[in-house]
Amino acid sequence: MEMKLRVWGVEFRYPARPVLRGVSLEAGEGEALGLVGPNGSGKTTLLRCINRVLSPQAGTVLIAGDDLGGLGTRALARRVGYVPQAVPPGFPTTVFEAVLLGRRPYVTWGITPRDQEVVAEVLALLGLEEFCARDFNTLSGGERQKVLIARALAQEPEVLLLDEPTSNLDLRHQLEVLEVVRDVVRKQEMAAVISIHDLNLAARFCDRLVVLHRGRIHAAGEPREALTPEIVGEVYGVEAVVRLEAGVPHVIPLAPRGRERRAECVV
Ligand code: ADP
Repeated sequence: MEMKLRVWGVEFRYPARPVLRGVSLEAGEGEALGLVGPNGSGKTTLLRCINRVLSPQAGTVLIAGDDLGGLGTRALARRVGYVPQAVPPGFPTTVFEAVLLGRRPYVTWGITPRDQEVVAEVLALLGLEEFCARDFNTLSGGERQKVLIARALAQEPEVLLLDEPTSNLDLRHQLEVLEVVRDVVRKQEMAAVISIHDLNLAARFCDRLVVLHRGRIHAAGEPREALTPEIVGEVYGVEAVVRLEAGVPHVIPLAPRGRERRAECVV
């Protein structure tokens, strides 16, 4: 498997606040890597360091062997697609225009038949054809999420980054969106990094997981290796049971760690 994405020794700090401390990871062709960890552990910051919205103070990010540090914005956008948590300001109104925005890194003088073809393909891939003339603002949360994914796919990136793509969705749309992402990543042999809160969805839809804790990688590996009761306890501070179903771990949180001890003290 060719490594599409290599992150090596990335350090990022805001003034007076170290956020990422020597983060290294890699993702291969067709691989979905889940990024999990508590609030504030550095997931969004790491995604932003990969797409160069933030410049890490140390470390490198390589895409198919090329250092992203040297690429301009347009060249970068042809290689990395980013699906944000929220709609960026000034987002266009129709679904077609929104997805066409993903072609901007390729457009020089005007929109070409190739641009239109890619947009049509991506709309079909995500089952959005019937929405193409709809006003983006009238769509449901799940439909909007798919449009944001479609916009990123229209960039024809090698690496797809998703920041909590399911956080505002109901159960059905969570499954739909993650199935679409997993399928397209495999079919198009991209590498995806998906920041995701729900450990059970992460385990089910990601090939490997990276568990971030206070800016460091606490554990990494296949879901069953990365989500043991010990690791979940250390990172999230909860007592948890992990059940394996068909090799996929299901995490059942029981109680915040230390509650029993505090209760004993009170008694
Ligand atoms: P996560 O996505 O895992 O919730 P983030 O990457 O958003 O974590 O945040 C990591 C840490 O960086 C947090 O402690 C957060 O408070 C801090 N942080 C995020 N943005 C800024 C900022 N603009 N200035 C200072 N600190 C920030």
